[in-house]
Order: sequence, then structure tokens, then C-alpha cells
Amino acid sequence: MHSTKSILVGTTLVLATMIAALPTYYAGLLALAGIHAIVCLGLSFLLAAGQLSLGHAAFLGTGAYAAAILTRDAGWPPLLALAAAVAGCAALACLLGHLTLRLRGHYLPLATLAWGMAIHVCFGAATGVTGGASGLPDIPAFSLHGAVLGTRAMTALTWGVVALSFLAFCRIHRGRIGRAAAAIKSNPTMASAFGVDVAAVKIRIFVLSAAMTALAGGLYAFYMQFLSPGSFSVGASFNLLIMVVLGGVLHPLGALLGAIAFTGLEIGAQYLVASLLDLPGQMESMLFGAILIAALLRWPNGLMTWVRVPRSAAAPAMEGHAVSPAGADRLPARALRVEAVEKHFGGLRALQGVSLEIGAARITGLIGPNGAGKSTLFNVMTAVLPATRGRITLGGEPLARTSAQVVRQGVARTFQHVQLVAELSVLENVMLGGYIHGRAGLLAAALGRDRAEERALAAAAHAALAQVGLAAEAGRPVAELTLGSQRLVEVARALMAHPRVLLLDEPAAGLREPEKRALVALMRRLRDERGMAILLVEHDMDLVMGCVDYLFVLNYGELLSQGASAEVQRDPAVVAAYLGAEA
Ligand code: ADP
Ligand code: MG
Repeated sequence: MHSTKSILVGTTLVLATMIAALPTYYAGLLALAGIHAIVCLGLSFLLAAGQLSLGHAAFLGTGAYAAAILTRDAGWPPLLALAAAVAGCAALACLLGHLTLRLRGHYLPLATLAWGMAIHVCFGAATGVTGGASGLPDIPAFSLHGAVLGTRAMTALTWGVVALSFLAFCRIHRGRIGRAAAAIKSNPTMASAFGVDVAAVKIRIFVLSAAMTALAGGLYAFYMQFLSPGSFSVGASFNLLIMVVLGGVLHPLGALLGAIAFTGLEIGAQYLVASLLDLPGQMESMLFGAILIAALLRWPNGLMTWVRVPRSAAAPAMEGHAVSPAGADRLPARALRVEAVEKHFGGLRALQGVSLEIGAARITGLIGPNGAGKSTLFNVMTAVLPATRGRITLGGEPLARTSAQVVRQGVARTFQHVQLVAELSVLENVMLGGYIHGRAGLLAAALGRDRAEERALAAAAHAALAQVGLAAEAGRPVAELTLGSQRLVEVARALMAHPRVLLLDEPAAGLREPEKRALVALMRRLRDERGMAILLVEHDMDLVMGCVDYLFVLNYGELLSQGASAEVQRDPAVVAAYLGAEA
């Protein structure tokens, strides 16, 4: 936080001096860089949530034309026109988002490219409204209470907007929605397993980025006082994207650096080609392109490669009051019951008529050879996959249909293949588990109204980490931990959801002996003190036999045996199919 603030203050001083002292032409270029920076802040957050837009220049144009036409032709005051342009663009983005954000992989960028091109064509074709290819002249300058803003004042206004937006995005970035965005980018299935409504969060981030872009477009119209469709082409969208990637999306600061560096490089290339080398103008784009490609190849994290900004606020100390990650009190007991569940993948019957119960205040083991269907059962029990047939109930009530709702019903899980967000710290990964207990949205975070909630969540995450023996690692990047420790981080993250039913998919793989003993002790505590229903899938037979109260054996999608662990161990069918192989 400190370093973010000091960067902000330092930059403000430098900028203020530049705006006041530079020749008007350069002060104007600074305004353009600021306009780009506003777009980049929104676009970079969109990218940080794993969405690539190749059509944002369309929002820039829509904002610009709307603000210009409302002031020029309808006589609205500029500020009101700007607000209307932003609101209109947000509505347009909401519509486009609902239509296209469900698309995955390369279909989404292609869809954004398609509507980007379509809207750009409209700017040129609607000659009666936009002036078409010959442009829209005579746009009034921005004015407030009758005071008309000149180039320098406009530059200062633009950078004022940049500063406020930057502050807001820094807060959003390190808050609840920022973590959700990083989780969505990393793995939407995991994000929704902790209650993130992936579609809704994606739409909100998309609308926010479109609104920011429209705001920048409005400022552009008032600054240029002339608009032509060429400024909002697909090429312009690409340039915006290049700025974001050039800066890097690991932190909002990257957006600012990218916008400034891009503007600087563009001017530098122009100067070099035209004045020094005396080459034709087209060469400038080639030179510029070559520099960008070289930079992107060399530094995939962009300019942020060199700037270290701590992503989250310093971990708060827990003074005195102990905080429990799962609420200190015993939770109402709830059993998870699976009745005659089938899961087919085409011709493969991964689960065939499986019925079992994961009782409250019990550790239930589930063993079986690889490919038996254990993880598939996990996925069906958390609504990641719909069952082909059968019924799953939780405390007598049917299981919810989406995994984001299932975790709210009290079922939390870990993943066999560790699903942590590499860009986040250990603490932040664990805080993600408490997503459903938070409320702060984009606006609350932007205004800094989420502080109390964040502090409580961080304190609970510290407590959860202490429970799995990783208190000392809270501040480290999660990618630095061993695989075994990462599995324990997943357990801590699951505890943050205050589960009644805890599903652990091979949590002990990669753990050392003392860590395994600590894991068993933790499971026993959760069972005895909180009455938690725990399902343990594990290959380490000593660990399983030593701690489970009841054991199910799955083989080729069918239940082979069940009972107390000693009985199961003696079952000839189990010995033949599974345990025999171990001996
Ligand atoms: P386990 O966790 O017991 O090792 P899994 O549940 O991962 O077993 O797999 C059970 C069977 O279902 C395997 O044959 C696996 O290949 C298949 N399977 C699992 N998930 C899918 C999927 N999404 N699509 C197709 N087949 C799958
Ligand atoms: Mg598995």
C-alpha cells in the first residue's frame, strides 16, 4: 500500500510539472497518453480475468460519438453528455457481454473482433449522425460552469481521471473481485467451486471496462473536437491491446506504463523515421511493430517485469482475538447422501449405481484403483458435472445445480490436481475460499469500503493457514511452495468456506510423514470439534486405515465393498481387486 501511494504521489508531481512546463503540443500528447491509460486500466482488468477483447475501440468510438453528438447537436452540457455516453456504453456492453461472454477459447476474441468491426462500420455508414468518413467537426471544448478548458487544463483533467481510476483499480485488484478475477483466469471450475458466479463476474468486469473506455472516448472527443471513424478501427483496438500487454496485466500500474510507453514509442518511431532517417511514413509502423514484437518476446509480463508492487495490503496482525476460519461453533450436522448415481462419458460408465453416505462427525474413506471413478464422484457431488442418473442430497435436501451454489450449501473440496492461482500469495489463495462470506463488489472495493471485510477475511485465512501448519508461508507466492504444501493450502482454502461436508481428493500425495500426521490430526479435530463430515480419497493405505471411521471401495465405477476399515481389509474381493496389488 505504501509503495502504491508513494508511486502515486511521485507521479502526480512529475506530471503536474510536465503539464505546466511542456510546450502545448507535448502537453496535448500527454492528454492522449492519459486517454489511453484510462482505456488500458479497464482493458487490463478484463485481461486479468482471462478475457481478451479485440473490439474495445468500438466502445471508445461509441463513447466519443455519443458525447460529441449530445453536446454539439443536442446542446447538452459536456459533463452530462459524458455521463450519458458512459451509461449508454455500459448498457451496450451488458448486451454484448450476455451474447458473447459464454464463448470460450478463441471464439470469444473472434466474437469481440466481429462486433468491433460491425460497430466501426456503423460509424462510417451513419453519415447523417456521425458525418461518416468526412468526420464530425466543431465539437465544443469541454467546459464546466461556463469555463472552457484549454489543452493544458484538459490534460490535467484527463490525468486527474487517470489518477482516480488507478486508485480504484488498485483497490479492486487486491480485493474480493480481484481475487475472483484471477481465479476465473486460472480455472473457472475452481472459481465456481468457491462460490464465484463466473458468468456474472465476467459480465461486470466487461461492463466496467467498456464504461472506462467510453469515458476515455468522451474525453477524446472534447480534446480533439473532431472525430473520424478511422480512430476507432480494429487497428485501434489492437493498439490498445498492445499497450496493455506491453505494460503487463499483473497490476494496474502496468496499464499506465503501457499507455505511456506506447505513446512514447510511437512518437519516437515517427521522429526517427521521418526526421533522422528520412524514410517514407509507412516505415514508421514497421519499425514500431518490430520494437513491440521484440519487447513482448523478451518480457512476457511486460514492463511490470521490473516493477515489484506488493499485490495485497500487508497481512494484518491478529491482535488478541482469535479468529476461527470455520466459525468456532459446531455446525449443524449434515450428511451427504448419494443414491444410485450413474455418470456416463459417452460409452464409458465412470459411475454405475453408486450409493453411499458421508455421515456427519465422521471421516469416511473412499479408495479404489486409478480410474475407479473417485474424482468423478467428487465432481458429481459438487455439481461440476451433472449426474447421468441418481440423486444426491445434503441433509435431506437436493444438492444445488451449480457448484457455486453447492459451496453455499456447505460442501467444500480440494482438487486432485492442485488448483491454486499462481499469481496470488498463499494468503490470497486461502482468502479466495471465503468468497461466499464476503459481500464487497466492484463499487465497494473502488471506494475502499471493503476494508473491514478484507481484514476479517485475512485474519480468518491466517487462522486457517495456522491450522494446516503453514502460518509462516502466508506472504509467499503460492507457486514457491512444494506440491505437498500446496495441497495443504487447498485444505485451508476449503476450510474458509465453513463447510459441513469437506471433500479431500488425495490430500496427502506429496506430503512428508510429519505433515501427514498433522493432516490426520486436523481431520480428527474437524470431525470431533465441528462435527464435520469428511470424505477422504487417498492412496496412502496406512493413513487411510489409521483414521477413517468407515470405508468405501470403488472399482470400475461400482462399489466393491464397504464397512469398518478392518473388515474391508479382509474382504477377499477387495484384496483381489485392489489391496492385493499394493502388497
Ligand atoms: P479416479 O479419480 O478414481 O482415479 P476418475 O474419476 O478420474 O478416476 O476417472 C474415472 C474414469 O472416468 C476414467 O476412465 C476417466 O478416464 C474417465 N473420465 C473422468 N473424467 C472424464 C471426463 N470429463 N470425460 C471423459 N472421461 C472421463
Ligand atoms: Mg482421482
